[in-house]
Amino acid sequence: MTALADPRRFDLDALRERLLDERDGEVDTSIPQLATADPALCAIALVLPDGSIRSSVQADAPFSVQSAVKPFLFALALLDTDGEALDRVGIEPTGESFDALKLESGTGRPPNPMVNAGALLTASLVEGADASARSARIARGLAAFAGRDLDVDEDVAHNEHLLGDRNHALAHLMRAEGTLHATADDAVEVYARACATLVDAETLAVMGATLACGGVNPRTGDRVIPERVARDVVSVMATCGVYDGSGRWMRAVGVPAKSSVSGAIVLSAPGRLGAAVVSPPLDAQGTSVRGRLAIEALSDELGLHAFAAH
Ligand code: GLN
Repeated sequence: MTALADPRRFDLDALRERLLDERDGEVDTSIPQLATADPALCAIALVLPDGSIRSSVQADAPFSVQSAVKPFLFALALLDTDGEALDRVGIEPTGESFDALKLESGTGRPPNPMVNAGALLTASLVEGADASARSARIARGLAAFAGRDLDVDEDVAHNEHLLGDRNHALAHLMRAEGTLHATADDAVEVYARACATLVDAETLAVMGATLACGGVNPRTGDRVIPERVARDVVSVMATCGVYDGSGRWMRAVGVPAKSSVSGAIVLSAPGRLGAAVVSPPLDAQGTSVRGRLAIEALSDELGLHAFAAH
């Protein structure tokens, strides 16, 4: 067995340099702001349980969090409903794309909180009397995970609300099934705004580390969610976080993660570290090509695979 590397000494810039040679993948084109993302952007950050951070160059470059927000929306919904969210959304992998127009057969619930239907629902379950109150609640919750206030890219929020036809369709489908109680338009507005939250690799790594540390933000020391909620969220990231690529991801990487169309991946290795990678070119499942390679390397070299007999 080869010796494992120490995350405190890991050369993230050398890893990043190697990744820049990789040219596969396509940048998402669903809205103009994503279509014009710089395909050469590539950043990696790690946050350890003692709160220390290691990051590559560009780890302070902002991007919209997109679907990497879904684990945190699930966490906030579990917290605000005292666990009732688990009755309102399934937790089974779908084997389908993230925006498939499909609900759980028999119940009409969204299949899991990591696909769009599920995140539209969890975003509607957080505390708040109307869409703007729920968005404000989500902003406060995300700030606690991040350890700082986060801005929203208003153009991204606006365009995702306006152009997200499949999300509107999913919300209407859930209304028709009686599983979404907010109006369809409110649900899309709150979800779109959450996706438009601006983070950088370092901040997203702190958010992943908060889940990896059982719900305590290792930078601020604040308990953001109960340990049981963190465990539930990370479990569902493990089975559903990379959509129809989740099985392949678990075999190769063995660490719970959530991918997103901005090319971000948030990683949560319980008790070990949180990490984030961003690089916009995506594979067919909507996972960052360089992000996957980066995290495979981290998993191998730091011995993070959950099912390896280290
Ligand atoms: N906001 C995007 C959407 O709903 C998020 C999708 C993603 O990152 N996979 O289409």
